[in-house]
Amino acid sequence: MPHSTAADVYDLRIVVIGAGTSPLKTTPRPTPRSLTTLSGMGGLGTALAFAKKGFKNISVYETASNLGFVGAGIQMPPNVMRVLDRLGVAPEIEAEATDVQATSIRQGSTNEELAHVSMPDIREKYGFPHLTGHRSNLAGSLYNGCLKEPAIKFHFGTSLVNITSFSPKPTLIFRSRAQEEEFIVECDILLSADGIKSLTRSHLLRASHNLTQTEEEDTGQAAYRIMLTREQLAPFPELIKLLNSNTVVRWVGERRHIIAYPVSNHNIYNISTAHPDTNFASATSATYTTKGSKSQMLSVFETFCPLVQDMLNLVPDGEVCEWKLRIHKPLPTWVHGSVALVGDACHATLPHLSQGAAMAIEDGAVLAEVVSEIPAEKIHDGETITKTLKVYELLRKPHCTALVDLATHSGRVLHLGEGKAKEERDKAFKENGKSGSVPDKWASPDVQKMIYANDCVKEARERFGELFASL
Ligand SMILES: Cc1cc2nc3c(=O)[nH]c(=O)nc-3n(C[C@H](O)[C@H](O)[C@H](O)COP(=O)(O)OP(=O)(O)OC[C@H]3O[C@@H](n4cnc5c(N)ncnc54)[C@H](O)[C@@H]3O)c2cc1C
Repeated sequence: MPHSTAADVYDLRIVVIGAGTSPLKTTPRPTPRSLTTLSGMGGLGTALAFAKKGFKNISVYETASNLGFVGAGIQMPPNVMRVLDRLGVAPEIEAEATDVQATSIRQGSTNEELAHVSMPDIREKYGFPHLTGHRSNLAGSLYNGCLKEPAIKFHFGTSLVNITSFSPKPTLIFRSRAQEEEFIVECDILLSADGIKSLTRSHLLRASHNLTQTEEEDTGQAAYRIMLTREQLAPFPELIKLLNSNTVVRWVGERRHIIAYPVSNHNIYNISTAHPDTNFASATSATYTTKGSKSQMLSVFETFCPLVQDMLNLVPDGEVCEWKLRIHKPLPTWVHGSVALVGDACHATLPHLSQGAAMAIEDGAVLAEVVSEIPAEKIHDGETITKTLKVYELLRKPHCTALVDLATHSGRVLHLGEGKAKEERDKAFKENGKSGSVPDKWASPDVQKMIYANDCVKEARERFGELFASL
């Protein structure tokens, strides 16, 4: 553990934007259909990583006082479980998550299995399991971890509205529901995990590159997110079998697919889709979620097999939630002065590789590692802080950009229509990864090796000196 002296790096005032949870004292356990879910993995992970490293002054600001989105599941691959283990929250997550042992990729129209990739040795190979869980399981565990750290102070219902200085001391303007007047906060380092619509990103790119556009991209895809309980699935033995399994299933079709897996101690079946975005086409700046229509959802998947139809039919009317899937072009920088972007704010991704939240949590862990390298005599030196944050960018940007591109590529391959390319894809699927690769990059052993073996904190520790010197 770090030692405490008169003024050392652990005294730096760290401000984190984004926590995405409601200020509950216990881990919330929403029912699958309740209007509560937790996001803000990047902010929670960052705050906890700094506290675990020994930083004493961490303030987290979050717009939400209570969120209102539909619950959803999340995959937690070994690379993020490695980080979560170091943060001390892995046991709480594992207690109710599913330990994935296989993935089954099926033709959506027929339910015919294109590939069955067994992965019983993930824990043995990479030291950590590949889990699926409820988002409340992950975010709740991170939040509970944060509550045990006196260094972390949460400010819910409080939004960052402006940044008036980036360096040497970021100066931030906040608006809170609890008070009428906006107020100013000065800090030493600002870490903004404020999501795809990041206000910090806009301000940072304007200040650093005079850019007024944040280059968000429409992917043309949207997602339905659904959770079904054991009781709902009970009349369908085939669906109960899937709920009891440790398998992730992906049903693929032209320009659409469905991915599903059990969460919450095999009591909830989580289903997420990707399909052409028609509803959001004209609402780019508005919210990225909307109540969907059940009949429209059924028509999107009308060519899929009866098993999928049975599953989608179980969703109660009025409880279909649709998300717009957006990304943005690689940014010219993630860092300006003493401010750095984290998570979706700087590398929003399509979900096809299941790495978005994982990358956000890894970002926070890497930041805590590199910032702790600042020598005591340099803690008030703006240039040193900027260079240190730039080391974070050098460590993370190539890796995250590669994963974002891979997710986009995987989506393209999964969504092929009839033709030669699809025939070749299905032939490659039939080889079941014997060549070390399958077209679904999420399930591909070569890609898994590249991502799962990556120990971002170890890399940061080992490469900090070399990268800092290169700047
Ligand atoms: C359908 C789908 C499936 C996915 N599946 C997976 C998966 O299996 N595995 C995985 O790892 N990832 C997955 N992802 C990706 C993952 O959800 C995101 O990458 C991740 O949640 C991003 O976290 P974040 O903390 O960066 O941003 P967010 O979760 O967007 O959090 C940003 C937070 O900042 C707050 N905020 C914003 N602006 C302000 C402000 N001005 N002031 C104060 N607070 C502010 C917001 O209220 C919010 O709480 C999936 C995504 C989708 C859409």
